[in-house]
Amino acid sequence: MAESVVVCGTLFDGVSAELAGHTEILVRDGLIAEMGPAVSRPEGAEVIDLSDRTVSPGFIDTHVHLTMDAGALARQTLDSTATKALSGLSLAREYLGHGFTTLRDLGCMDPEFPTVDLRNAIDLGLVVGPRLVVAAHILSPSGGHGDLSGFYPSRWDLPVSTVGDSLGEIRRLVRREHAHGSDWVKTVNAGGYFSVGDDPARVSWLDEELGALCETAAQLGLPVAVHTGAADACRQAIRAGVRSLEHAYLIDEEGVEMAARAGVFIVPTMQMTQEDLAMLQAGTLPQQAVWKFTRDNQQILQSQRIIAGSEVKVAYGTDCGMFPFSHGILEFQAMVNAGLTPLRAMRAATSVAAELLAREDLGVLRPGAAADLVGMPGNPLADISVTSQVDFVMARGAVFRGRGAPLTP
Ligand SMILES: [Zn+2]
Repeated sequence: MAESVVVCGTLFDGVSAELAGHTEILVRDGLIAEMGPAVSRPEGAEVIDLSDRTVSPGFIDTHVHLTMDAGALARQTLDSTATKALSGLSLAREYLGHGFTTLRDLGCMDPEFPTVDLRNAIDLGLVVGPRLVVAAHILSPSGGHGDLSGFYPSRWDLPVSTVGDSLGEIRRLVRREHAHGSDWVKTVNAGGYFSVGDDPARVSWLDEELGALCETAAQLGLPVAVHTGAADACRQAIRAGVRSLEHAYLIDEEGVEMAARAGVFIVPTMQMTQEDLAMLQAGTLPQQAVWKFTRDNQQILQSQRIIAGSEVKVAYGTDCGMFPFSHGILEFQAMVNAGLTPLRAMRAATSVAAELLAREDLGVLRPGAAADLVGMPGNPLADISVTSQVDFVMARGAVFRGRGAPLTP
């Protein structure tokens, strides 16, 4: 029986508006067995001294792409499935070192299911990494954000996109995702900034097409995450019954209110907008993105302020893979800069993200919950930037990064 006692100077439990003072956590077999001012000290239990640290539930990033490298998408289509899985594992471990103990991967560009394999290998203990929740592919209409053919001469005809147009095709794609182990269905109902031949300001599924997708997914027990942009697209997705709006680049007040009423989560990927703004200013934004992002960037920032000023459920998600995983931790700061309180940003990455994933055992610190813990100096509810100084990571009760250890193990 693997046991340890973590002595915390202060503690954010994932929910409470105030930090708790000195708290001890008894960890047994990957779970929190006891928690309080003083817990039992079983013989042989390792004592981990974080008495000058704030301990939080491990962070959850609900929007990553472990097997997509935005800077090299064309070359990457030639990589084998195994190569993508192995490089994804390396990125997942790097990100775990920053404190992200659970990731929702929202799609790969591969005919096989590398992220499903990765999730299973981690769950089986074959390799060490963060917990993965997986939407295997990005189901898209042809010519939509998930259709990569716009990047390549048509003669390539590489089977890297997952597209369908008829209701029957759409149902088949959803059923195939389910049959091969997807936890979620990922789709797109507006264009993107980096994709060729589409526009985030336009809706890309017909109502009946997205309806068929959501209905099929619901019957199979799979929640739906939708990459979305235009205000009309956000409304369409909420009406269709998706569980999370990804990006929601151009959402308006009506859309945010609809989402709040329907209990739909928004994953606003605010750091990515900052990354794109920096590229626009540096003149390094890919050519196909320039006209769209130049037109929309101020509206995106306005939409982010509307989200921040509302009561809607906001979950932490970055789109890492589209930019370096080392920048994923900066979403905390981007959220606070957009107007979220530090408390709401911390909940977004812990208890609210866990609620999105319907995982009561994650994102909170209480007896019975998973022993996924991070330690950082300072008080994140007063200064959110201390999240960038995480220097202790425990995942499933095992220390992944010992206090003060360098980032890459
Ligand atoms: Zn994405």
